[in-house]
Amino acid sequence: MTDRSPAPGVIFLGGLGRSGTTLLERLLGESPGVTALGEVAHLWARGVLAGEPCGCGAGFALCDFWRRVGERAFGGWSPVLAERVLGLRDRVDRTRRIPRMRHRDLDEYVRAYRRVYTAAASVAGSRLVIDSSKHASLAWCLAAGGVDVHVVHVVRDPRAVAHSWRRSVERPEDGRPMTRWGPIRTSLHWTAQNLALDLLSRRGVPVTRVRYEDLLADPRATLTGLAARLGLDPAFPHLDGSLATLGPAHTASGNPMRFTIGPVRLIRDDSWNTGWPRHLVAALTKPLMRRYGYRPGDLNGGVPMRGGEEAA
Ligand SMILES: [Zn+2]
Repeated sequence: MTDRSPAPGVIFLGGLGRSGTTLLERLLGESPGVTALGEVAHLWARGVLAGEPCGCGAGFALCDFWRRVGERAFGGWSPVLAERVLGLRDRVDRTRRIPRMRHRDLDEYVRAYRRVYTAAASVAGSRLVIDSSKHASLAWCLAAGGVDVHVVHVVRDPRAVAHSWRRSVERPEDGRPMTRWGPIRTSLHWTAQNLALDLLSRRGVPVTRVRYEDLLADPRATLTGLAARLGLDPAFPHLDGSLATLGPAHTASGNPMRFTIGPVRLIRDDSWNTGWPRHLVAALTKPLMRRYGYRPGDLNGGVPMRGGEEAA
């Protein structure tokens, strides 16, 4: 028996990985009436097939929230379902297909996501869900398939992004290292993803751009501006200056920060600023950097600098 509730609005967080989407999802997800789902794009392989833990700490199959979502959406999760959606993704959800996403399998692919969103909103009792899948091609698929999606395009200085992709980070799910990219590869992906998300706004899809640096410089002002655009409660009682208090969230997959519970200090990480080929990244991404208000020749990224720990 599948869910027959009305489809919720979907807040889709887009941008290249290591740009702060997980942090933003956690901050927005504390608002009443909205539920953070993590990176739904990875739910099929990492959640359903591999049984990796939900953000609440329970294994995917043992998380009561996702068990109920699966029952409402599909009559239960199954490897056959996950393999089917992954097969559809390989045919439909590709960056190279942008901007012509129409494909005979698109409707079936998008229907699977719509069922997840609808069931999750119903189980959580919320009218909005957040999917932080990031990939522009999925945002394009959802929009082409008629999902009521508002894209929040998260941009971060590509030199900071490239620095983060160079670093060795262990996945808390299985202790294995996360994927690493060199500066050239990161620059190309940064440009492609951001251009694809920019292009989406020209197709009539609501897209709101947020700079990660602005979020950290003034979290309340940035979140209040986003709340007005997204129809969220602008109160944000979990925020006190640069200190946010996060509760548990049933995020299916994503950056290790999805497991963080309790107080988090929102401070910029400027450790990218020394000793590696950051000028190469600036040279490769210069036009878009300028478009987003970063100064390629300015190691300060064009916004007030503060030292500190990584919050992405
Ligand atoms: Zn959970």
